[in-house]
Amino acid sequence: PSAMHDINLKPPPIRWDDIGGQESVKLSLRRAVRLSVESPEVLSRYFDRPPKGFLLYGPPGCSKTMAAQAMATESGLNFFAVKGAELLNMYVGESERAVRRLFQRAREVSPSMIFFDEIDSIAGQRSGFSHSSSSPSSSGGSGSGINVLTTLLNEMDGFEALHGVVVLAATNRPQALDPALLRPGRFDELIYVSPPDEPARRAIFSQVAARRAMHADVDVDRLARDTEGYSGAEIKGICAAAGVAAYDRFAAGGEPAIMMQDLERGIRNQKRQITAGMLRGF
Ligand code: ATP
Repeated sequence: PSAMHDINLKPPPIRWDDIGGQESVKLSLRRAVRLSVESPEVLSRYFDRPPKGFLLYGPPGCSKTMAAQAMATESGLNFFAVKGAELLNMYVGESERAVRRLFQRAREVSPSMIFFDEIDSIAGQRSGFSHSSSSPSSSGGSGSGINVLTTLLNEMDGFEALHGVVVLAATNRPQALDPALLRPGRFDELIYVSPPDEPARRAIFSQVAARRAMHADVDVDRLARDTEGYSGAEIKGICAAAGVAAYDRFAAGGEPAIMMQDLERGIRNQKRQITAGMLRGF
């Protein structure tokens, strides 16, 4: 079975404003878009080697994938997205061909962007191989992702050919990445996507509040203060649980709006996934 039909996704209509906070991430990605279409003459005034590979890293559920989607929507670049694991679920040789075809098509329709989500699944450390070697042995392989990784690195190394193509990747396990991937000229622009800080959490709660039936007792500032350490995904989970609780009350003939108590219970019941070890990571 071929997974090629999965590769060219239509960008979901996520916009920068849908992401609460993360201003420096948005700034870096906007710059990446501009750089990809900048003339070589201008680039040479500012860069020895303009960045072309961007790695979004940080704990799970904190808007890495969203940021890539917003970049695609807002830039209008032709968008190719692939999950690392999808490339491994192919027959031997097929994933390498898929990667080469991906870059080829991205070049054909440039300006464009390629997004490798969960890149750690194909770019985990090549255990048993010397990291000083830039060309991994081709005797490994079958399911290990080594050949896919080699193909990816080869594609990234052709600089001229990649003009007009932004290559973006995301991982929540940066320590697991093969260092070869992070060398200059490859994914050498590291963008940390942190857990939402207090203003970002307030923005996420406010976004949800604007769309839902909220009781006047809902205090967004306090919710933001009370959710230190929660990911954006978990905050959305808290809001979803509060919505269910309010709906049940409404269905039983009670107060229809989402109340502060619903959200507070949501916070108490929401498990936190982010641990200290997941922060920064490099
Ligand atoms: P993973 O590493 O697990 O793939 P991720 O960092 O790619 O996670 P996303 O998939 O972008 O995370 O985010 C998951 C969901 O969490 C989003 O669909 C969105 O609902 C919510 N979310 C996370 N961060 C934010 C944010 N800053 N503003 C609004 N929603 C957010």
